[in-house]
Amino acid sequence: MLKKTKSKELYEIAQQYIPGGVNSPVRAFKAVGTDPLFINRAKGAKVYDIDGNEYIDYVCSWGPLILGHSDDDVVKAICDTAVNGTSYGAPCEAELELAKLICDAFPSMDKVRMVNSGTEATMSAVRVARAYTGRNKIVKFEGCFHGHADTFLIKAGSGLLTAGKPTSPGVPDVFAEHTLNAKYNDLESVKDIFKQWGNEIAAVIVEPVAGNMGLVLPDAEFLKGLRNITELNGSMLIFDEVITGFRTCYGGFQNIVEIEPDLTTLGKIIGGGLPVGAYGGRKELMDMVAPVGDVYQAGTLSGNPLAMVAGATTLKKLKNNDYYDRIEVLGYLLTGKLKTIFEEHDLYCTINRLGSMFSVFFTEQEVNNYEAVQTCDTDKYAKFHRELINKGIYFPPAQFEVCFISCAHEVEDIEKTAEAINDVLNTIK
Ligand SMILES: *Cc1c(COP(=O)(O)O)cnc(C)c1O
Repeated sequence: MLKKTKSKELYEIAQQYIPGGVNSPVRAFKAVGTDPLFINRAKGAKVYDIDGNEYIDYVCSWGPLILGHSDDDVVKAICDTAVNGTSYGAPCEAELELAKLICDAFPSMDKVRMVNSGTEATMSAVRVARAYTGRNKIVKFEGCFHGHADTFLIKAGSGLLTAGKPTSPGVPDVFAEHTLNAKYNDLESVKDIFKQWGNEIAAVIVEPVAGNMGLVLPDAEFLKGLRNITELNGSMLIFDEVITGFRTCYGGFQNIVEIEPDLTTLGKIIGGGLPVGAYGGRKELMDMVAPVGDVYQAGTLSGNPLAMVAGATTLKKLKNNDYYDRIEVLGYLLTGKLKTIFEEHDLYCTINRLGSMFSVFFTEQEVNNYEAVQTCDTDKYAKFHRELINKGIYFPPAQFEVCFISCAHEVEDIEKTAEAINDVLNTIK
């Protein structure tokens, strides 16, 4: 057992001043039944808690840190910029640089607007889609996550075509009228919804690779089908690439499958570890946004110079190196080893991976939709997580959060991780 005295102490005090002691719920480790660790330092593939323990990190700040923690070039760019001011509330060149990098990497984006979080990005993209189509309803998928705007906090009703329900108190029931839930990788469920409400649907929003129910890959025809259905019905297709943007290749998953959505939302990696979000698309759509058009959206710290240079530095490094090959190899290596180890222990699991993202699902089913995800043994995952932490391996504190590998991970880290998992499986049988 690692010593965690100081983390424990701070956590107790933090709970007096911050709801649950955390500023984002999953950080509280509730899903794994332990206390969170207070981190006070991170470098490369490692995070260090306040008690001085070292961990190989597979959370990577939930996705942004593709270069690893505290990348020298990113840190230097932030420091050099901060000396000249941390926010101007006026245009600066760094905004233009990042916008250009993004638009050049995404054929579907003529223009992009910077915001401060993925939540703002999806909320604003839906507003543009509603304004453009003059319609109110949106379709999303069970198990996908698009931030915490009211519109998205609606779950399916008892049947596909019955009214949905808010997933959170405080979300008015009327939002449920406008948010329809379809099933991931199930085009029939989308077609049924369109049959009923086709000419009222402003947009379909989807994670082109689902990364918030664990990693669930889209079937080959799924995304293409969504493109066809939305086109036929005059609805917008929004790809929420907050996780997948610049994660699977230089650009989005849309570049890989060669599908152009009408609007794209980004966040995480494009901020290089600072708070950021962005939404963009065709000129005709983005020119509806103020001050060119009437669709209102604004932000005091939007286009913040520190976030812009952190993001631009990250993207330039990704563009000019063969990092995607590197993390593909590391992902292949680790998940290959894990498959073998689980088999040797006679333990079932399903491992999904795409490049540097992967999930170890504690289920024997193939996992390609939300129903399959729900067959996971979350108690077993909790035990697995607890034991792994004690071996210095920091996996996400919930079965349904994706593991990320960064460019700073080394083969040695992968080997150590595999060894630790081998040991842990001896104890959780
Ligand atoms: C993280 C995430 C968001 C929300 O981004 P925040 O910056 O946390 O508001 C939205 N969509 C997806 C797909 C995400 O993974």
